[in-house]
Amino acid sequence: MTYSRFLELFPDNDACLEYLKAKFFGDGTPCPKCERPSKFHRISGRSAYSCQFCGHHVYPTAGTIMHKTTVSLQLWFFAIYLMSSTRCGISAKQLEREIGVTYKTAHRMFKQIRTLLAEDDDGKLSGDVEVDESAYGGKPRAYDTRRKLGRIRKTHKPTILAMVERKGRVRPLVIPDRGSRSIHMAVTQHVLEDSMLFTDEWNAYQTIAGRYRGHRRIKHLAKVYVDGETHTQTVEGFFGLFKNGVRGVYHAISTTYLQNYLDEYAFRYNRRFSSQPMFWAFLERVEKAQPRLASQPHGS
Ligand SMILES: [Zn+2]
Repeated sequence: MTYSRFLELFPDNDACLEYLKAKFFGDGTPCPKCERPSKFHRISGRSAYSCQFCGHHVYPTAGTIMHKTTVSLQLWFFAIYLMSSTRCGISAKQLEREIGVTYKTAHRMFKQIRTLLAEDDDGKLSGDVEVDESAYGGKPRAYDTRRKLGRIRKTHKPTILAMVERKGRVRPLVIPDRGSRSIHMAVTQHVLEDSMLFTDEWNAYQTIAGRYRGHRRIKHLAKVYVDGETHTQTVEGFFGLFKNGVRGVYHAISTTYLQNYLDEYAFRYNRRFSSQPMFWAFLERVEKAQPRLASQPHGS
């Protein structure tokens, strides 16, 4: 998706509104009021359309992140375009420069676009699944772990647990700490029991292994990183991508939004083999976030 193609498709606010209207209130969509399959006609001068039968007004942006904001619809679309067309994401600072909104506005827009990217529950991970955890801001070294963390489970830094299917999906989660309890809860919730787990030698994984089809541990302490099929390079690759991206684009990110940033990275990662341009994948999410049922009294 090139910039000129973007401008061709969305030259102004009306074009963006038309896009949303076609998505949510295309011809034949039951009118929220009279419930008849209707055509909706644009009401001139307003961001609304009216039902051909009863004249009920519908608003294509209602319930979306773009509704009643100070930012124009085209700028929202452009922000999505920018965010989706870079491999590692774009910072609010860059957006501020690109589209001329204030930093505060840019930050808020990104935050909201990111909330759309959280994966729907598309089933537990399965097959060969690599699991690894990392303190945000650096993993405690094995040496520190033995010496200092032997009894201390809680680190002050948030822990990111990433679970990755080889050649498949990733699920990164912010968890309270790297203790067994937190790790067990996350892994059992997200990884199918019939899976083969690949981890390092951290104790928390050892004690969960019995629930799974198999468990291979890589002996990082002995400086072994790959032993045939046994490695955790896929999950380490994801961490590398995330950390480089954060360092390069955002410099540092608030832990409050850490999960949202992880979701953004996971969203890209999970679509790395998809032929659908990222822009449309992002834009589709606007549709999904629309609580359309709210305006349908009888919920057909
Ligand atoms: Zn109607």
